[in-house]
Amino acid sequence: MTKSKNDKYTARNFRDESNSRSHYVGRFAPSPSGPLHYGSLVTALASFLDAKHNKGKWLLRIEDLDFFRNSRSASLEIQKQLKGFRLIWDDEVLFQSSSTLGYSEALKQLADSTYLCSCNRKESRPIYNGNCRKNGADKTKSTALRLMISQDKLSFKDAVFGHLQWKGLEDLGDFIIKRKDGVFAYHLAVVVDDLNQKITHVVRGSDLLDSTPRQLDIYKKLGLNPPKYCHLPVIVDSNNFKLSKQSFAKKVDPEKAVTILRLALTDLGQIIPRTENHQHLLEQAIKNWNVERIPKKLTTKAPKMLL
Ligand SMILES: [Zn+2]
Repeated sequence: MTKSKNDKYTARNFRDESNSRSHYVGRFAPSPSGPLHYGSLVTALASFLDAKHNKGKWLLRIEDLDFFRNSRSASLEIQKQLKGFRLIWDDEVLFQSSSTLGYSEALKQLADSTYLCSCNRKESRPIYNGNCRKNGADKTKSTALRLMISQDKLSFKDAVFGHLQWKGLEDLGDFIIKRKDGVFAYHLAVVVDDLNQKITHVVRGSDLLDSTPRQLDIYKKLGLNPPKYCHLPVIVDSNNFKLSKQSFAKKVDPEKAVTILRLALTDLGQIIPRTENHQHLLEQAIKNWNVERIPKKLTTKAPKMLL
């Protein structure tokens, strides 16, 4: 297949960007479905401290592709809360919804590895069996676009969990990169956004551990280098559910920043600075930050006062 001029430009564009990455660019990427709760604050804090300890940049990206679940007021509230906690990002905020052109371009480059799929959610669980890859989609139904995952092993070294490995087809299966409703799916969007923002280090919750090999496969198919990954224990409630808007998690109040930051540092296994001063606390936390102290466990129970 011959590529159009435009495609070549895109490929080169991505490659140039990945080559010009500075030594450390991290990010926090919340979806604006509600204000920050303790779980999202812990992730924000860890990615902030990791970036600042490494003298890097820390960017904020609002993952607002899902129009139905997101609100502008939540996006403003998140920014206000982060400022209240003095987790101040570098550069301008990137809104995912403003960068869909990059997703279409990436999709073009992946075209040879995709196929239409008409299966419903139930038919795709727990691991998609490749029905439409083998038999073709039912064209009378609406279709999503699936990416053919690499058959070989997908592995990476996580800063907390060490070396991890998956078998593409057996453990993960082909996955959706564009949904039936036309929305670009999470895995594609996150890869393109991280490329556009020249992200070198991703710090996020362990609930995304098995998203990582899928995203690595997209990098592989685009011929680009992935960032480094660090997955944190996910904060859960007393029923072991991840704190979320759906689980009615309380929003974190910047008025109690010092107390909440201390709790978050404890849950991240870090040394707790002995100061009650907000700014000094953060400065010392940056200086003392040590990834090796992060507990190697998938979940941590939220402190009761923050549920
Ligand atoms: Zn299918």
